[in-house]
Amino acid sequence: MPRRLSLSILAAAFALAACGADDAPAPQPVMDTVFQYSTVNALLSGLYDGDMTLAELAAKGDTGLGTINGIDGELIVLDGKFYSALANGTVRELKPEDKTPFAVVAHFRPERQAGLPDGLDYKSLQSLTDQLVQAPNHLQVIRIDGTFPEMKVRSEPKQSPPYRPLAEVLEDEQVVFELENVTGSMIGFRMPSYVAGINVPGYHFHFITDDRKQGGHVLDLELSSGTIKIDDVSNFEMVLPTSAAFQGVKLGGDRMDEIDAVERR
Ligand code: ZN
Repeated sequence: MPRRLSLSILAAAFALAACGADDAPAPQPVMDTVFQYSTVNALLSGLYDGDMTLAELAAKGDTGLGTINGIDGELIVLDGKFYSALANGTVRELKPEDKTPFAVVAHFRPERQAGLPDGLDYKSLQSLTDQLVQAPNHLQVIRIDGTFPEMKVRSEPKQSPPYRPLAEVLEDEQVVFELENVTGSMIGFRMPSYVAGINVPGYHFHFITDDRKQGGHVLDLELSSGTIKIDDVSNFEMVLPTSAAFQGVKLGGDRMDEIDAVERR
């Protein structure tokens, strides 16, 4: 590990310790819940139309990510508003009647906050976040507000039936945007490995600029300054599609190769 990162982790840990001073009253535990609609393996298999509206999803959380029916862009849920980062590079604010085939949200009540040092890339940001997480076997909802000299995001164009598997769609049609010198918010999750098949183990973030004009699924980044907030969650609620199509897809098995292909390429 480079020396600079070790120092950065120490600095961030110190900043974190300072904001949780011993004489402060202990925060009361709040039973936060991560809510999820459908499963990531259903999405991988091409189940791109769901029956949950964003109005219904809003009741389950104000922060999160996912996609919209037809996989019409990357869904970002931030401060109770719903956006889709589209393949043409723009961002559309979504309507309550829009539907999702896959989404993960929570009511964001962070217990922890820390300043982030200059010069982190995506990998070192994840290593640093690992140090900050106190309950690694819980679900962590994470928001990072910052300035990014580089932010590499992707989206994909809306699909029409018959749908192809997600890995094929992204292989052929993924659109990558390399944004420079942007300020904005990363919204996402750190999930334990036991969610495999249901959600994405490890880190998964979507990004949106402060002006809400650009964004997407985060592939890589460089951070110059920022703040991380972490919500430690021990409740998990999942609702499955009621469609016949959901009964027709194969959902089992370890598909981490596909996950890596679609989430981290
Ligand atoms: Zn994503």
